[in-house]
Amino acid sequence: MEKVDLTRLVDGPFELPLDRAAFAEALRKGLGRALMHVRARGAAGVDALVIDACVDDKTLDSQSEPERWPWMTEIVDAAGMWALTAPAIINMVESLTELNERDQDHVCNIAAVLAKRGFSDAMRALYMAFDRSWRWDDPIAATQAIKLNARDGLLHVARRLGQLAQADQSDDLELAPLWILALEFESKGDAERILEEAASSDRDIRAYLAWWRATQRRNSQDAMPQSAETRDGLLRSITATEIIERMRTGNPVLWGGPLMAWAKIASDAALQQIADAIFAETDEKRLRQYLWAFRHRGLPSLTPEFLAYADHENEFLRNATLIALSNTRHPLVREFAMRRMAREDKSFRDLSLLCRNHERDDHVMIEAMLEVAGDVHDAHDLVYSLIRIFKENPVGEAQPSLVFAYEHSPCMNCRKKVVGLLLGQGLAPAWLAEECRFDANEEIRELVLGSG
Ligand SMILES: [Zn+2]
Repeated sequence: MEKVDLTRLVDGPFELPLDRAAFAEALRKGLGRALMHVRARGAAGVDALVIDACVDDKTLDSQSEPERWPWMTEIVDAAGMWALTAPAIINMVESLTELNERDQDHVCNIAAVLAKRGFSDAMRALYMAFDRSWRWDDPIAATQAIKLNARDGLLHVARRLGQLAQADQSDDLELAPLWILALEFESKGDAERILEEAASSDRDIRAYLAWWRATQRRNSQDAMPQSAETRDGLLRSITATEIIERMRTGNPVLWGGPLMAWAKIASDAALQQIADAIFAETDEKRLRQYLWAFRHRGLPSLTPEFLAYADHENEFLRNATLIALSNTRHPLVREFAMRRMAREDKSFRDLSLLCRNHERDDHVMIEAMLEVAGDVHDAHDLVYSLIRIFKENPVGEAQPSLVFAYEHSPCMNCRKKVVGLLLGQGLAPAWLAEECRFDANEEIRELVLGSG
């Protein structure tokens, strides 16, 4: 692992033009400097990297992070390289397979922009990708075909789905619901009207509409809506004694999620009862289950013996213990954190133990731990711990650590949290605020605009 020069980092970690490695890194993380580079210098020498990032979604977690494709199209626009990127994008759309599941929306959205820029091959490729979809509950390129061609795209997609509905009459057939197809229209009603009109003379579209209505009827029969209020009411009525009894007998089973929700609103006395049960428990499986109660709340008391679970051979128990301790303010946790951070095999997760046990001048020790992590998951753990520590303990000395987190966050959601903390505490260096205006995360751009 690589140590970092924090002074240099706070002063400004980059200069334009970026070298190839710095550009690749910025593209991966979605840092504004990549777009700044292309706006100032074009993409000469880094065009292959840009093409690669068009066909390969670089976000760490495309489920939870904002979509990356709008930023990539800004970069391609700024570089004026649509013609250069077109063959790779079209080729990728044409050859998508299940192996590219995580890239498909990314590249199809960029292909849709390409089509809008006048590359008709991109449109053909999108239709082709749709026709050979490997799943139909969320078909490849369907929304993009509809986005580009509104009515014609919608009819094309609905016709194909209608053919499938005729071929498979079973109740559990899963096709794209009408509301997905209607996303690009003003309202679901608009899309439905277009389909109804077409249905009078098109049996495939008629079949799709019939499938959709039958599915809706079935779903409304199955649905059992439960408001947050009734759920909280139910949870509130359960006592700690009942929970301990259910945990002991396993009847009925108490799942982690409900227990976590129960603990969020439980009284201190009830939580103490659960903590006492944990301290008396020796069964590994039950311990793991119990600890769900302390994913968001701290332990009201602590025993030295409990700390040992942080080194348990079972990974779930180990992690659940560290999370519970990271929520707990207690001298034992502070002492434990110090001991662990002095160890040879310390981990970035240990830092999280300081969240509720932070003291003056801890930044010195924290800064000494900052290293460029070997893999993105370690990097994410580190950044996440830094965010938690300095969110709970806003101090001016947090600046180098937070700038480090900004620079090294592999995820755009965490970067947004870091930028929020830096701006909120008046600690954002000028270069950083400037760079945020070009970030791949639109919400980060809005943060700096709102603060400026
Ligand atoms: Zn994150």
